[in-house]
Amino acid sequence: MSAMARNELIMWGIGLTELEAQAIRHAARGRARLATWSGDTLPQAEDLDRDEPFLVLATWSAWGRASQAVPVLEGVTRAVILSEDADAETVQNATASGADAAINTPLEQDSLTAVIERAISVRRLYDDIYRMTQEIVLERELLSRKNEQLKFINGFLARTAESMDPVELLGIAQAELSKLVDISALHACIWGPQDDAAFEAELFLAENISASARQSWCSLLLESAASLSSRKLKDYRIVQLPAHGRIVRPPSKGRTLILPLKAAGDVFGCIAVAGSINYSLGRDQVELMHSAVSHLGLALRNAILFSEARNEADYDSLTMIHNRRAFERRLKEEIVRHQRYGHPMSLLMLDIDRFKPINDSYGHLAGDAVLAAVARTIRNAVRTCDYPARYGGEEFAVILPQTSGVQASVLAERLRHEIAGLDFFEEGAHFRITASIGIADIAPDSPHITAPQLIRRSDRALYGAKHQGRNQVVVAPYENECPSIAAMH
Ligand code: GH3
Ligand code: MG
Ligand code: MG
Repeated sequence: MSAMARNELIMWGIGLTELEAQAIRHAARGRARLATWSGDTLPQAEDLDRDEPFLVLATWSAWGRASQAVPVLEGVTRAVILSEDADAETVQNATASGADAAINTPLEQDSLTAVIERAISVRRLYDDIYRMTQEIVLERELLSRKNEQLKFINGFLARTAESMDPVELLGIAQAELSKLVDISALHACIWGPQDDAAFEAELFLAENISASARQSWCSLLLESAASLSSRKLKDYRIVQLPAHGRIVRPPSKGRTLILPLKAAGDVFGCIAVAGSINYSLGRDQVELMHSAVSHLGLALRNAILFSEARNEADYDSLTMIHNRRAFERRLKEEIVRHQRYGHPMSLLMLDIDRFKPINDSYGHLAGDAVLAAVARTIRNAVRTCDYPARYGGEEFAVILPQTSGVQASVLAERLRHEIAGLDFFEEGAHFRITASIGIADIAPDSPHITAPQLIRRSDRALYGAKHQGRNQVVVAPYENECPSIAAMH
C-alpha cells in the first residue's frame, strides 16, 4: 500500500463508453469520484501517486494495457467489464490475469453497486490495517527511544555515583553528556553559601585552554553566576579540570549552553557546555539534559558537603592547619608520588623551644596564642604545594614535595628566623620564642623509605637541634638510614 491513508474515494474507468461511465457514477451515489481514460490514453505513475483509486474498472479490450498501467496494489480492487456474450473462458482469463471482479454489460446498477461497495470495504480494511501498522511502528519507535533515554539516565546516575570529587564528577558529566550532544568543553562555576550580598566562586576550567579563551570563559561564567544568584562577586579562584582532547576555544553564541546547578531548590552554580557546532536540540535531548544536570547538581552538592566535612575533620581548630591524621595520610601519598616520579622530597619537623615555661608564666591561653602565631608564620612561609600540619602539642610538621634537603634547610632557616622575630605581649610583659627544626630528605634515587622511617629521621634531627642548644636547624645525615632505623620497626 502506498503513502498514507486516503480520504477521498476515487475510481478509475479505462476504456468506458460515456453511458458506462454514467452508470458507474450513478451506482456510486456520490460516495466516490470517477476519473476516466480512453484506453488509448492511460493513467501514469504520477496519477497513481497523487490519486490512488480504490477501484479500477477497465473494459476487456483495454484490460491488457490497463493492468500494465495499474499494477496489483493492496487495497485496490480491479474489475473487468466484459461484453454481454463473454464466454466462461474469457471470464477465466480475466480472473487469471488479476481481475478481482468481472461485470457484464449492460451494466446493471445492482451488480455495479455490489462491486463498488465491496471495493470500498476492502479499501477501508486496508486503511485500518495501514493505520494500525503505523501506530505499532510509532509505538515501537517511542518505546525504543524511551528505552534509550532510560539507559542514558541510568548510566549517568551510576557513573556520577562513583565519585565524591567535584573535579572528577565534572569530567564524568562531560563524558556522559557527550553521548547526548556534541561537547568540546564543559566548564562550571560553583559559589559558596548565599547568606552574604556578595559571594565567592570557584571556576572549574579545562586546562587545555588558551589565555584569551580562559579570560572569555571566566567572564561568561562570572556573568552567569552573578545573574543566576543575583549577587555581586567578591572573589573567585580557578580549579583546573583535566583536558579532554581538543583545545578549548572561547565561548561562541549558539554553541554554548548555560545550565543552572540546583539542590533543594537553591541555585548554587552553573555549568557551561560548549559544542563545536551550533546547538539545535530536540525536545527529548533538552529534557534529558535537564534531568542529567539536575542530578549532577545533587551529586556535586553532596561532593562539596563531603569535602567540606572532610576538610573540617582534617583541620586543627586552634591553629587552622592540618592535623596529624591528615598529615600522616598525605605523607604516605607524597612518598608514593616520590617513588613514582623520582622527585626529591623533604620533611620538616619543628618544635617550640621551652614552651612549657610560657604556659606556666602566662597561662594556657597565652600558650594557645603562641601556637596559632607559629602556625600562621609557617603557613605564610611555605609554598601552596607544601603541606603544613600540627603534629602534636607544640610540634609542627611540613611536607615539602620536590624539595631537596639543602632547599628545605634554607626554608627552615628563614622560618626559624621569622619565629624568633615574633613579638608577644602578655600581662604587660613582652616575650619572644624560638624553635628547633629537624629535616629529613629523600634523594631522587634513594632506596624505598616508609612514612614512619622518614618521620623518625626528622625527629632525630630535631632532637639533635635541641641537644645542640635549640633555636637551630639540623638536617638528618643519610648515614642515619636503613639498617638501624629499619631495625626499630
Ligand atoms: P623543649 O624546648 O625541650 O621542647 O621544651 P618544651 O617546654 O617546649 O617541651 P615539653 O615537651 O616539655 O613541653 C611542651 C608543652 O607544650 C607541654 C604542654 O603543656 C604544652 N602544650 C601542648 N599542647 C598545648 C596546647 O594545645 N596549648 C597550650 N597552651 N600548651 C600546650
Ligand atoms: Mg618544645
Ligand atoms: Mg615537644
